[in-house]
Amino acid sequence: MTKMKRFLAIVLAVVMCLAIVGCDKKDEPAAPAASTPESSAQTVAATEDNADNTTSSGTLVMATNASFPPYEYYENEKIVGIDAEVAELIAQKLGMTLEIKDMEFSSIIGAVQTGSVDFGMAGMTVTEERLVTVDFSDTYATAVQSVIVKEDSEIAAVEDLEGKKIGVQESTTGDIYATDDFGDENVKRFSKGNDAVAALSAGIVDAVIIDNEPAKNYVAANEGLKILDTSYAEEEYAIAISKDNTELKDKINAALAELKADGTLDAIVAKYIPEN
Ligand code: GLN
Repeated sequence: MTKMKRFLAIVLAVVMCLAIVGCDKKDEPAAPAASTPESSAQTVAATEDNADNTTSSGTLVMATNASFPPYEYYENEKIVGIDAEVAELIAQKLGMTLEIKDMEFSSIIGAVQTGSVDFGMAGMTVTEERLVTVDFSDTYATAVQSVIVKEDSEIAAVEDLEGKKIGVQESTTGDIYATDDFGDENVKRFSKGNDAVAALSAGIVDAVIIDNEPAKNYVAANEGLKILDTSYAEEEYAIAISKDNTELKDKINAALAELKADGTLDAIVAKYIPEN
């Protein structure tokens, strides 16, 4: 936890940037709501009208970053995965229609905070720093940060990452931990996990730090990569909701509790992660 405290300044700075909107990191769009093809003007207007109580608009808008299998990814131009399915069932229980907006991971918390979406669900880890700006639902999954290297890599343990180039997905906990432990100059940030892994295959970075289930997917889909036995950090995933919308948080928690109690959540996880 002391480690987490050390990240506070960095994460707060990033979140402030997003909130202010003017601070456009890299080439990415600063306004997430306007950046996705799925976002129709109609839905955005409905969300704004009901920024602190979505339940009357009939549409529940979720922000995600659909490059994170098995939690969210594209299949035949549709976003599928554990989060997408769980969110769909939550919306059903709330009597609402789910709309998913795909955006950079680094834009999700800001979108939740400003009310341009109703919630963020993206294999998102609960951290003390994120809790400063948004609320989280009860947790629905656990994860660990994994280290991916080339099969013939000399990197055999986390300590061997010292001085190496580490690829991460921007603003994720992998980014935050790697920056804190190995220095900003050694961390190369990508907007998608996919791109970080491609950079590893191309020899641009020496390792990628990313959540374990996406790590397994990426290694299965790309020749010549492996995951180190040692896990880097343990985490819990939850749904990010605006601090102004406790009503929605309570409803989501009630829906999640039902999905856990009747075995639906386990069944969805088993469908996407067969070995569990
Ligand atoms: N669990 C990590 C985080 O919350 C990564 C999530 C993601 O890349 N979608 O930072």
